[in-house]
Amino acid sequence: MGPSLWTDGILPVLTCLLGAPMGSFAAFLADRLPRGEPVMFARSSCRGCGQVLRWWEMIPILSYVVLRGRCARCGDIIPPRLLQAELAGLALGVLAVWADLGLIGAMALWCLLALILADLVHYRLPNLLTGALLGLALIFATVSIAPVAPDMASLWRAALGASVGAGVFYAISWIYQVLRGRAGMGAGDIRLMGGIGALVVPASGWVGLAMVTLIAGLAGLALGLMRALRRGRALNARTPVPFGACLAMAAALIWVAANIHPGLFANP
Ligand SMILES: [Zn+2]
Repeated sequence: MGPSLWTDGILPVLTCLLGAPMGSFAAFLADRLPRGEPVMFARSSCRGCGQVLRWWEMIPILSYVVLRGRCARCGDIIPPRLLQAELAGLALGVLAVWADLGLIGAMALWCLLALILADLVHYRLPNLLTGALLGLALIFATVSIAPVAPDMASLWRAALGASVGAGVFYAISWIYQVLRGRAGMGAGDIRLMGGIGALVVPASGWVGLAMVTLIAGLAGLALGLMRALRRGRALNARTPVPFGACLAMAAALIWVAANIHPGLFANP
C-alpha cells in the first residue's frame, strides 16, 4: 500500500494531539472509578472548593503550568500526579506513533496508563478499564496487525492469550487461597491478565507473556520493599503491593518492544 493522507498524515498527528488529554482522562477515570463516582456527563471540578472547572482551566499541561499547580479560585493544590499523567499520556501517544501502533494501539497504552494510576493510588483495577483493555486488545489483534483484511488467526491467538493469562492467575490465586486461607491476588489482577494476554500473546507469544509476569514480579518486589522501607516496616506477605500496576507497566514495555522488533521473542 502506498502512503495515504489518513494513515501517514492525519492519524499520527491526531494521536500525538490526543496524548495529553487522554493522559488527563486516564487520571480522571483512575480517580473516579474506584470511588464509584459517575464518569459520564460529569464535569471536572476542584477537590478543594467543588467549583466546576472552566474550559481554560482544563487545557492539559498548559493550565497546570499557568496556574502553577493551584486552583484559580481557592488556591488548593492540584495533585502533581495530574500533570505527570498528562505528560505520560503525551509520551505514550508519541511512542504509539513511533512504534506504528495506530490509534487503537495508542488507546490500549492509555488504558494501561489509567489502570496503573488506579492501582498506584487506590489499589484498585476497575472492571471498566480491564474490560476496555481486553476489548482494545481483541480489536487490535483483528484489524491493526493486518490492516488489509481482518486477521482471524491473530484474533484466535489473542483470545487464547486472554484465556491462558486469566486462567493461570486464577489457578495461582486459588492455590494461594487454599494454602494460606486468604486471598493473595485480587479478581482485578485476574481480569487484567486476560487483557494483557490478549494484547501480548499475538505480538510476542508465550515467551512475552512469561516475561511480563517475571518483570512485574520483580518490579512488585522492589516497589513493596520501597513502600515498606518508607513506612519503617519489614516487607512481608501482607504488605500491600500495587501488583496490577507492575503487570500493566511490564505489559506495555514487552508489547511495544515486540511491535518494534517483531523477531525479539520467538513465537510458538
Ligand atoms: Zn478550588
